[in-house]
Amino acid sequence: MAQLNLEPPKALIIHCGDPRFQKAFREFKSEKLGLEEGQYIPLIVPGSVASLCVGTFLPKNLKIMREQIELLLKHYATERIILINHEGCRSYGAMVAKLQHVLTSDVNAKQMEDLEFAAGLIRQISQRYGAHPKVELYMARVRKEDGEIVFERIGVG
Ligand SMILES: [Zn+2]
Repeated sequence: MAQLNLEPPKALIIHCGDPRFQKAFREFKSEKLGLEEGQYIPLIVPGSVASLCVGTFLPKNLKIMREQIELLLKHYATERIILINHEGCRSYGAMVAKLQHVLTSDVNAKQMEDLEFAAGLIRQISQRYGAHPKVELYMARVRKEDGEIVFERIGVG
């Protein structure tokens, strides 16, 4: 039985709900980011930050996700924001396919760009609530040799 956790969360973490990656995400959060369940707010959405970045083309997705993030950051001024995209993301693939007439870049390049773009957007939202969180960006990739999922740090936030 668990009791109500009254500790304020240290981080907001956004990643995809792809079941093939959940175990790797959980291990990464605990072992590499040093965050245990209850110490962070998990925002698990298909395609991770994708909806924040295709707003011009899919405004409904953008609006919903933006509102969720605003609400969370308004209530919890977390010190860290961690955004993770992953290789072979079907949600991303579907979105890019839908937007093929406007997007020329490949999915991987788009995912990398989107992490940076989403970081900027979330920073703006945080600042509106007087917070200046550290934004960390990661790309989860499947290592060819052994199928192990490795996390590549993108840029520095
Ligand atoms: Zn995915």
